Amino acid sequence: MSDKILVAGAGGFIGGHLVAHFLKKGHKDIRAVDIKPFEEWYQRFPEVENLQLDLQVRESCQRAAAGAALVYNLAADMGGMGFIELNRGLCMLSVLINTHLLMAARDAGSRRYFYSSSACVYNADKQTDPSVTGLREADAYPAMPEDGYGWEKLFSERMCRHFTEDFSLITRVARFHNVYGPNGTWDGGREKAPAAICRKVISAKLAGKHDIEIWGAGNQTRSFMYIDDCITGIEKIFHSDKVTFPINLGSAEKVSINQLVDLVESIAGIKLKRHYKLDAPKGVNGRNSDNTLIKQTLGWEPDTSLRSGMEKTYAWIHDQMTK
Ligand code: NAD
Repeated sequence: MSDKILVAGAGGFIGGHLVAHFLKKGHKDIRAVDIKPFEEWYQRFPEVENLQLDLQVRESCQRAAAGAALVYNLAADMGGMGFIELNRGLCMLSVLINTHLLMAARDAGSRRYFYSSSACVYNADKQTDPSVTGLREADAYPAMPEDGYGWEKLFSERMCRHFTEDFSLITRVARFHNVYGPNGTWDGGREKAPAAICRKVISAKLAGKHDIEIWGAGNQTRSFMYIDDCITGIEKIFHSDKVTFPINLGSAEKVSINQLVDLVESIAGIKLKRHYKLDAPKGVNGRNSDNTLIKQTLGWEPDTSLRSGMEKTYAWIHDQMTK
């Protein structure tokens, strides 16, 4: 078996960074697949086999997985709260991607399979308070995940587990907590809070109009993981022989949305008048990553400070908006 690597969802934010990482490490045999037209991929490399395929379709998954030893599934129809609260059916259809890709990887004799799950699998009752303590892996059950998107993730996690038990396909599952950084979605309705706040602060600054709209009351809490930590974590989890269960991959640096706005204002060097849109989608009240298990099993956790990650993200979005 060759060491061909398949990255599904390679035209997206995390998939694009993963392909860039493999190239930097010297991998030569990489297949990158996404449903989007090539000109819409955030990162695309000519030395890689790039394919435009709809991975909800079984035959496309067979084409994508043919000859692949290592399969990374980063493909999903997703976005920030504004998208997932209003498109539950579309989010759930991503179950077709993971189901067909698992079957194709099994049939192609792939050695390992990575699935990108989410903190949205966690029970909503554990996330009602902004001063939430970190979510432990066990907090996914009894199940009451985010409607639509979270149910699809939880179901797909279990598909991975049973493909390992029944067909000996080695699977690894990481539950990402909000990932941010350059080369990701920053406008159009699928963007998440860090990119959306950067965009709003930059437009206020460029327009000289010192107002900002914030979704919710601003005291909902989250943690945000910089993309470089996400890529490091994916590789550590994927190649570990100890992490045989879904594991948190996220920062444990909890902030409120208001604190995130403070931070972006200070990077931009401006102060804005805040208008709170209380009926906008805002997700759970509090969410953070408990990193006990990842520290125990891998001796590592994401540690890029929010300030340094947001400075790079702000600079990239600023470039996109002014070029
Ligand atoms: P993204 O939207 O930038 O990338 C996903 C890619 O999948 C997109 O380019 C999209 O075109 C592609 N895709 C969608 N449907 C497809 C199909 N039918 N066939 C082929 N490609 C298809 O999102 P991302 O932030 O890079 O997320 C990657 C993975 O990580 C997803 O599974 C997502 O649910 C998960 N995740 C991300 C975050 C985050 O904060 N970014 C948090 C939790 C989980």
